Amino acid sequence: MTRTLIKTALASEQPFTELLIKGWVRTRRDSKNFSFLELNDGSCLANLQVIAQDDLTDYPVIQQASTGAAVAITGELVESPGKGQRWELHARSIELLGSSSEDYPLQKKRHSDEFLRTIAHLRPRTNKYGAMFRLRSRLALAIHDFFRSREFHYLHTPIITGSDCEGAGEMFQVTTLDLTNPPLVKGEPDFSQDFFGKQASLTVSGQLCGETFAMGMGNIYTFGPTFRSENSNTSRHMAEFWMVEPEMAFADLDENMQLGEELIRYLVKFVLNDCTEDLALFANFVDKELMARLQNIANKAFLRVTYTEAVEILTASGQSFEFPVVWGNDLQSEHERFLTEQHFKQPVILYDYPTDIKAFYMRQNDDGKTVAAMDVLVPGIGEIIGGSQREERLDRLTQRMAEMNLDEADYWWYLDTRRYGGAPHAGFGLGFERLLMLLTGVTNIRDVMPFPRTPKNLEF
Ligand code: ATP
Repeated sequence: MTRTLIKTALASEQPFTELLIKGWVRTRRDSKNFSFLELNDGSCLANLQVIAQDDLTDYPVIQQASTGAAVAITGELVESPGKGQRWELHARSIELLGSSSEDYPLQKKRHSDEFLRTIAHLRPRTNKYGAMFRLRSRLALAIHDFFRSREFHYLHTPIITGSDCEGAGEMFQVTTLDLTNPPLVKGEPDFSQDFFGKQASLTVSGQLCGETFAMGMGNIYTFGPTFRSENSNTSRHMAEFWMVEPEMAFADLDENMQLGEELIRYLVKFVLNDCTEDLALFANFVDKELMARLQNIANKAFLRVTYTEAVEILTASGQSFEFPVVWGNDLQSEHERFLTEQHFKQPVILYDYPTDIKAFYMRQNDDGKTVAAMDVLVPGIGEIIGGSQREERLDRLTQRMAEMNLDEADYWWYLDTRRYGGAPHAGFGLGFERLLMLLTGVTNIRDVMPFPRTPKNLEF
C-alpha cells in the first residue's frame, strides 16, 4: 500500500477504510484501553491523531513508540468527535520503524530558539521550524514563478570565482595548496601551483557574470548561495546566505525600483494567500503585528526618497543615533530602521547615493556626486534589497575604475560588454533570508536558515 501524507489525509473529503501513514511520534498518551498518538510527517503543521485499542495484536509495539520514534500505521480514517480536527486514524497495524531513546531532546514543552540552534539537525521536527522551512521551500518556488511569468531566464553563475571584483565584501579563499607548507615565491604563496593556477574564492555575488548574460539574453536572474567572510556577528548577517539577483537589459533605475517593489509585494501576497496555516503560527506565536505589517506591504505602494532627502529627514528628526548622520557616509541599520519603522512606517526605497560609498559599476548621475543606486528598506529589517543602474558608458566606467585603483586587465571580459553593444541595464540583490525574516517576524537570521554559518560556528 502506498503511503498517504498526513496533509492529504487531513484534507480528505471522505472517510477511508484503509490508509497507510508514516511519521514521527510527537506525543503518546495511554489510557486504560487505548493509546493516543499525535503523529507528524512534516507535510503540514497539523498532527494526525491516531487511536490504538488494546485488543490489537500490535498493541505492545505502540508501547515502544515513545516521543520521537518513527512509525508506520495502517488504519481507518474516520471523522473525529474531538475538537479542532476533522479526521482521526483508528489503527489496525503498527510497525515501529525506528525507536527513540529516552534522551530525545524535543520533549513536549516550548524550547528556546537558542537551544534549538544547538540541535539544528532536529529543529525540523518542531512546529515552528517545520513551518519555517516549508515556507522557505514554497517561497523559493514562488520566486521562480514570479520571474518565469515575466520571461526572465534563470541563470546559474559560478560559486567559485577567480575575480575579487564584485567589491561586495570580504571573500573566502578556495585553495588546494598545503597550508602547512605552501610553495612560495618571494615569500608569498605561489598560486600558479594552486588548483586553478591562480587565486580563487567563493563568490560574494553573481552580478558581474549576470550582467554579461543580460547583455545577450535580455532579462535574467540568479538565485543561489553567496559567501562573505566579514566578521559581522549580527542578527542580519551570515557567512553563507542566498541571494536573488535579477538583471534587466535596457532598463533604468526607475524600472529597477519597480521590479524590486513588485517582487516583494508579490511574495508577501503569496504567503498571505498560499501559506495560511504555517503563516498563522508566526502571527500567533512569534509576532503579533505580523499580519498588519504584511497587509500594509501588500496593499500600499512603496515610497521613493533620495538619499539626500533621507539625510535631511534624519538630521531634522532630533533622534540621537549611535552613528552620526553626515551626507556622504553610509546609512547604518539604526538610520534605515528609523526611516522605515518610525518616520514612514512603511517600506521605502532610497536612491541616488553618494558615489564614494558605492561600487565602481554603478551609473554616475549628472550631478557628479551621486550614482543611480537604490536600497529597499522594510520595517523590522532595514535593507532587504541593494541594487543600481549599471554604468554602461565605457569611458565613465574605466575612469571610475582608475579612481578606485582597479586594474582594467582584471575586468577585460566585463568591459567587453561595454565595448560590444553596451546598453543601459539595471539589477539588484535581494537577500532571501532577510525576506524570510520579513515574512515571518523572526528576528534572528540564524533561525531562517537550515544550517546557519556564522563566525566561529560550523557545526553540522
Ligand atoms: P548590509 O549593508 O546589510 O551588510 P550589503 O550592502 O553588504 O548589506 P548587498 O551587497 O547590497 O548588501 O547585498 C544585497 C542583499 O543581500 C542585501 O540587501 C541583503 O538583503 C543581503 N545580504 C547582504 N549581506 C548579507 C549577509 N551577510 N547575510 C545575509 N544577507 C545578506
